[in-house]
Amino acid sequence: MKAIRLHEGRERSLLKRHPWVFDGAIARGRADSGETVRVEAADGRFLAWGAYSPASRIRVRSWSFDEAERIDAAFIARRIGRAVALRARLPIASSGLRLVHGEADGLPGLVVDRYGELLCAQFGSAGAERFKGTIADALLAATGNPRLYERSDASVRELEGLPPVTGWLRGEGGTEATIEEHAWQLTLDVAQGHKTGFYLDQRDNRAALMRLVRQFGSRRVLNCYSYTGGFSVAALAGGAAEVVSVDSSAPALERVQAHVALNGFEAARSTVHDADVVAFLKAALERGEHFDAIVLDPPKFAPTAAHAERAARAYKHINLLAFRLLAPGGLLLSFSCSGGVSADLFHKIVAGAALDAGVDGAILQRLEGACDHPTTMTFPEGEYLKGLAILKQV
Ligand code: SAH
Repeated sequence: MKAIRLHEGRERSLLKRHPWVFDGAIARGRADSGETVRVEAADGRFLAWGAYSPASRIRVRSWSFDEAERIDAAFIARRIGRAVALRARLPIASSGLRLVHGEADGLPGLVVDRYGELLCAQFGSAGAERFKGTIADALLAATGNPRLYERSDASVRELEGLPPVTGWLRGEGGTEATIEEHAWQLTLDVAQGHKTGFYLDQRDNRAALMRLVRQFGSRRVLNCYSYTGGFSVAALAGGAAEVVSVDSSAPALERVQAHVALNGFEAARSTVHDADVVAFLKAALERGEHFDAIVLDPPKFAPTAAHAERAARAYKHINLLAFRLLAPGGLLLSFSCSGGVSADLFHKIVAGAALDAGVDGAILQRLEGACDHPTTMTFPEGEYLKGLAILKQV
């Protein structure tokens, strides 16, 4: 077993069970991509077993802080079994769920989503890549699902020095799936969709939108960055007369319209716009339009804290435009999925936008990712999705 020796004083985060070791913390030792290493303090004391990644700034991701543990197929099967067992006890109102959420499930870099009988995995770290076959077998054994599609094409792979890979890992066949989320049927394609096909993390917030639309009697709803229209269907289910969905992906918008039909809503209640959201918001303001509820669920503007300042300006801009476009008494559901922007900072950004728009906003609800995307107490970086439901006071 190769050993990685840290600089004096750099053992602190591992002692607090934070799983990452950055390149600058390492005094000596190296290994192959994904190889299991023993991480030691400057005095040789055991700290963790981890996976080495020569290309990444996150040079080691810890598997375990228990010296007696062996990182083998049985270990992987235990961790996967634990993650699957946890989901079985969580209140998840869908047949689509996240089974493995990386670091939070003790499997750094590994994401696995389950869409009914179909599994889709993303191997985003050298360690997960190294154990790919073992992970695939363990997933099939733990779930009883026969088919597993790989979507290892996220940009994080580049940082790990790994090439993009997609395709069937186990089983074969069609890549389309239909899930039942709350009372709705939603479809996706694990091969063509974003990420593993669907944004499962917004499940509870879609239900929150449905309730708010119903409570406040919102008639015209604008869903910005709609993707395939999960929030659009939620707004219609809440009784909105009309939903406008805006996204820059034409295939996603086709699916919005398919979802409206699939869930039994009249086609006339749904309009889609293939457009840049900022351009759309500006044009709608110029036309003098108003909406009773607006959803803003943009892509990650700040992947890390280093991008936070530029991201803050972008978030502020879209929120400012949305506040102006809202009718008095209207609702804004505004989100950020940027790991580099904390919930506290996001709150300040949205408050600044309200102030500049001259809007008196009441926070109705603080929103976060669904419970199958858990965060551990030792890994705050895992907490990425945050949102606010705000009422524009009359
Ligand atoms: N709310 C969605 C998920 C949104 S993901 C859901 O619940 O499923 C972010 C979406 O923003 C993606 O669909 C992407 O195509 C879209 N997007 C990214 N940049 C955009 C832009 N500048 N204008 C419009 N849409 C954009």
